[in-house]
Amino acid sequence: MAGRKDSAVQRSPLPTSGQPQPQRSATVSILQSYPPGRLGLSFELFPPKSAESEAAMWQTVDDLVAWEPALITCTYGAGGSTRGKTLEILAGLRQRHGVAVASHLTCVGSTVDELRGYLREAEALGVTAIVALRGDPPKGETGFQAVDGGLSYASELVALIRAEFPRFGILVAGYPETHQEAVSPQADLENLKRKVESGGDVIVTQLFYDNADFLRFRDACRRLGIQAPVVPGVMPVTNFAQIRRIATLCAARLPESFTRAFEAAGDDETAQFEAGVEFAAKQVEELVAAGVPGIHFYVLNKSPATTRVLEAVGIGGGRA
Ligand code: FAD
Repeated sequence: MAGRKDSAVQRSPLPTSGQPQPQRSATVSILQSYPPGRLGLSFELFPPKSAESEAAMWQTVDDLVAWEPALITCTYGAGGSTRGKTLEILAGLRQRHGVAVASHLTCVGSTVDELRGYLREAEALGVTAIVALRGDPPKGETGFQAVDGGLSYASELVALIRAEFPRFGILVAGYPETHQEAVSPQADLENLKRKVESGGDVIVTQLFYDNADFLRFRDACRRLGIQAPVVPGVMPVTNFAQIRRIATLCAARLPESFTRAFEAAGDDETAQFEAGVEFAAKQVEELVAAGVPGIHFYVLNKSPATTRVLEAVGIGGGRA
């Protein structure tokens, strides 16, 4: 698979360098990130905790913009712990590369007025879109509890943004393997439909390692009348520690072919990296062949694995 270029797909036409672009109608511009016949790439970053990791993150960004992403997103820490840093990273991305950016935002620990305050700040910084989320219950708590004057579900946050901040594009989370708290897969899909009907433009999925799960999920969305683009979330795994983390954090099922590839790599870190890249490249290649509108890479602030996957699959890119 390495070095294949014959499945090249055109990239998104969104600009990535020079001055920040004027805001257009966000719904139109976010959907333009996924036009028919072109693949919209997005890269997800998280706010770094030290000066050293921040420098590494900016190097990653500088490497990855060469792939002309439609969107770069930055996560929002539990309970708003990264509020200021998330905004700072997004503002830096706008200034440095003029790329379209999306802020993740959760309902955890915030009143509606506090959420409005964040959205106003994000809008003033030229953020294009919001990944509207409920968030996880704080550590040690089993169920999600909205604060007084806060919101209980992502669908409510989507409705708030659509009503009061119509310039934002809105992305919502989808779960190919069903959200852990959902009472049933069907109830989870109906929630997803509610998020889209409340104003969600694009669905970005939780990471998964078996494309069959994603394809079943996409079919189920369509059967339920959900027409929004469904963008698969892909996280190239490059070492055993990440595998353990995935299993505990989001309970993504790891197919046998995946674990076999890692077992064959043994303790050799380079071999583990290569196995992870090869698996992710095959996964992305199949997804592109299945006609996905884009790929959302969980890049974990590092570029080598994502770069290698993009090179292997030959997805457009000035460097492909
Ligand atoms: P919701 O859509 O509100 O769903 C939560 C649960 O409630 C589901 O089980 C759903 O089925 C159920 N539900 C929804 N509505 C109803 C209803 N009316 N009645 C009964 N049940 C209902 N977390 C962070 O903290 N920061 C981030 O930056 C972040 N980024 C993410 C990005 C992506 C692409 C994804 C997939 C997840 C991200 N998460 C993030 C994790 C996310 O916050 C958790 O998965 C969280 O547990 C659920 O958020 P949600 O927006 O999907 O919630």
